[in-house]
Amino acid sequence: MSVPKTDALPLGDAPTVRRCLAKALGGCKGDDAEIPLDCVAASKRLIKAMQSVDVIVLGAGAAGMFAAIEAGRRGRRVLVVDHAKAAGEKIRISGGGRCNFTNTGLGVERFLGQNPRFALSPLRRYTAQDFIARVTGAGIAWHEKTLGQLFCDGSATQIVGMLLSDMAAARVELWLGTSLGSVRQVAGAFEVETSRGPVRAASVIVATGGKSIPKMGATGYGYRIAETFGLSLVETRPALVPLTFAEQELEWMRPLAGVALPGRVSHGKTGFNEAVLFTHRGLSGPAILQISSYWREGEDIILNLAPGRDMAAFLKAEKQASGKAALRTALAKVLPEKLARLIETQAAAGGPLAEMPRAALEKVAGQVTGWHLRPVGSEGYRTAEVTLGGVDTDALDARTMAAKAVPGLYFVGEVVDVTGWLGGYNFQWAWSSGWVAGQVA
Ligand SMILES: Cc1cc2nc3c(=O)[nH]c(=O)nc-3n(C[C@H](O)[C@H](O)[C@H](O)COP(=O)(O)OP(=O)(O)OC[C@H]3O[C@@H](n4cnc5c(N)ncnc54)[C@H](O)[C@@H]3O)c2cc1C
Repeated sequence: MSVPKTDALPLGDAPTVRRCLAKALGGCKGDDAEIPLDCVAASKRLIKAMQSVDVIVLGAGAAGMFAAIEAGRRGRRVLVVDHAKAAGEKIRISGGGRCNFTNTGLGVERFLGQNPRFALSPLRRYTAQDFIARVTGAGIAWHEKTLGQLFCDGSATQIVGMLLSDMAAARVELWLGTSLGSVRQVAGAFEVETSRGPVRAASVIVATGGKSIPKMGATGYGYRIAETFGLSLVETRPALVPLTFAEQELEWMRPLAGVALPGRVSHGKTGFNEAVLFTHRGLSGPAILQISSYWREGEDIILNLAPGRDMAAFLKAEKQASGKAALRTALAKVLPEKLARLIETQAAAGGPLAEMPRAALEKVAGQVTGWHLRPVGSEGYRTAEVTLGGVDTDALDARTMAAKAVPGLYFVGEVVDVTGWLGGYNFQWAWSSGWVAGQVA
């Protein structure tokens, strides 16, 4: 009896496997009950052999798919496993449905982690320009929105489509709706438990992301695998996340919910000039998401609601030019009306500008440009775009993304303690780290 080569069989495709088995077993006709014992043994051997690949990638997100494509292009037999129903779900919803897929201003200072310089090597080897060329080559139109952020003109699903078609071309097998269990080292290889049975692989690439948005399948699974193999972890926390406030602040913030304005939000020496949005729970908008990665409990953030403007000089000039006007009227020239009213109320300045002493005007100016606020927390992993912390980069080789102490085990993407700013940096990290692992796994 001749047994077909296992690499000719698509993994996980039960009907095809059955057909191939029937062919392989030749004379073994009839239903399963009638298959002679030696044929059953042969089929068991075959099934076992089929569950064996060169590389198993855990997670079909941005980093996992990219790593799989690269390994597949090198002729490796690659299997990608994910418990989600569809691959690349975060790509699909990213950038408001347009996927901010990279940033032209990549620099190590735009990444956080215990050793942000770790990201340099992968980012230099697979650059933003490389990914732009890939997107352009796939016929996906894109544009720069602001601050070097590149988005699809059409839909983020185009990026998912490109990756899926690249995976198919590289003969990468994809198992969706498949849960993952333990990962063990067995006789020089790895054995990964899956809900479709165990899979043997020479290399395992862990690309299961962080803890952000559990509703979309985030589990923290990759951290547990790292721990199993003795790799240290850097404490995780939600990042790029709206900040929440105590009831005392919410009383005046809630009526402002929906108000958005350009501002500068700072924490220590770090500051971001982007939009700020008031919400029912506190503050959001790009500037707040950015600063959330730096803020820690018990600390203040500073809001400048009129960046680049000398508010004290502005208010003095307004007092001179229109002394009879109310403070809110002057403020509304530079701030949304609701915010202007709130600041007037907080300053207890109901009268005309002419009656406001210089010190009072300066105090108001100070509040507009240097408003100290103390969040009590964040909206957490439920809405956080990314997870800070993760697999300690000290345990990984930046040239390969391999665990230094466990040959054949790789960690890529968000599961690693490398977190980018808002603006396409996190996807570029996923592409770059995935690409690097895909060259060697
Ligand atoms: C709403 C939102 C918008 C975003 N927009 C942008 C943007 O525009 N630009 C940008 O650069 N970044 C953006 N990000 C961040 C970006 O999505 C992530 O940095 C990126 O997806 C990380 O890629 P990854 O492959 O490492 O992980 P993920 O994309 O999270 O992929 C991990 C995969 O592993 C699977 N998985 C997890 N646990 C298990 C398990 N136990 N068993 C089986 N499978 C498992 C998941 O289902 C998932 O498919 C956004 C994030 C969110 C939440």
